Amino acid sequence: MAYDSNNIFARILRGEIPCKKVHEDDHTLAFHDINPQAPVHILVIPKGAYVSMDDFSARATDVEIAALVRAVGKVAEMAGVTADGWRMLSNIGENGHQEVPHLHIHVFGGRKLGHMLP
Ligand code: ADP
Repeated sequence: MAYDSNNIFARILRGEIPCKKVHEDDHTLAFHDINPQAPVHILVIPKGAYVSMDDFSARATDVEIAALVRAVGKVAEMAGVTADGWRMLSNIGENGHQEVPHLHIHVFGGRKLGHMLP
């Protein structure tokens, strides 16, 4: 999967499309998913142009990687899901059913989630 700079999250990062922002720092943006699958469903993305975790783990700087991990933790804390538990998930490529070619971590919570077996 190639990076397409017109993907929906690149457009959100450029301010061309609105989002319901939850968190932003120098390297990450987090916003509510437009089609939530749980009471809490937030997407956390790096600001850099990375297609997926494959690309990110290979090319991102240590600072970017740390920022993304910290942002996911902060978002979960802010959303109030850490006491009862939550889930992070990232779909990668065709077999992973990735739709948007910009790395995004889903943060789900707010209810008892289903078992996650493929
Ligand atoms: P899937 O749609 O199969 O879960 P992805 O992991 O690529 O595939 O997830 C894309 C996510 O982006 C979906 O949960 C979708 O609801 C969300 N989404 C699409 N467009 C927007 C948008 N404009 N703002 C917020 N979330 C969006």
